[in-house]
Amino acid sequence: MSRLKLNTPIIMLHHIANQPHSSLEKWCISHEKFLELLNCIEQKGLQTTTFQEIVERKLNRSDLANKVIISFDDCPATLFDFAIPELIKRGMKAVFYMPTEHIDGVNTWDIKEYGMISVELMNVTQLKKLVALGMEVGSHGEKHIKLDTVTYNVAYADIVNSKYTLEKLLEHPTYSFAYPYGKVPMQHEQMLKKAGYKFGLSIYTSLESNFTLRRFAINEGDDRNAINLKLSKRYQMMRSLYDPLFLLLNKLLSKAF
Ligand SMILES: [Zn+2]
Repeated sequence: MSRLKLNTPIIMLHHIANQPHSSLEKWCISHEKFLELLNCIEQKGLQTTTFQEIVERKLNRSDLANKVIISFDDCPATLFDFAIPELIKRGMKAVFYMPTEHIDGVNTWDIKEYGMISVELMNVTQLKKLVALGMEVGSHGEKHIKLDTVTYNVAYADIVNSKYTLEKLLEHPTYSFAYPYGKVPMQHEQMLKKAGYKFGLSIYTSLESNFTLRRFAINEGDDRNAINLKLSKRYQMMRSLYDPLFLLLNKLLSKAF
């Protein structure tokens, strides 16, 4: 598996809540939308998996043909209210990305930079519970910083220390890393490999590899057709063409203004 690029669809979620604070709306879907997503997954005959399962069970291309990965960034504690019980009820798995310096803390990075409301994040007991439930806990860095704006040493320390912290707390290997803000640093592959990760998750990326896997968000405005499209191979192909153009356009626009 390690030499082949993973082509499993990867969903990126943050908050699941009804009537969230307005500052969280962009990063939140309702209970109803979450259920619609899970229903679409089931109706398409897809099964959820995790990076941990892919590595530990040595899943190959054919094992992965009907798989999907659900990922949650930042680990808001409220996921235990609705989303996690619903996953358990359906026998589904997901991957939860925790910024380790913020365990049992709040989303200070969002509050400082974007004026967002304070959100309680998971504590050690909750992270351990996820592991006991067969879910995967991955690293979202230590501090939740933009790793493409800091030196190699700072980025590498954030990547390797967060892995060390999670492994010590959860007594389990950490296989995957989700770049905070989807910001991929230079030499990311070398850094992740050196730290011992098997997979790295981005959002938009011009060139996808197992260390810059693309993810797609599900938004409140996505109807059933949009969700089904996002879960399809066709959408993955569209993204492989669209992402390089999107990133180039963003770069040109940021230089122009
Ligand atoms: Zn994040």
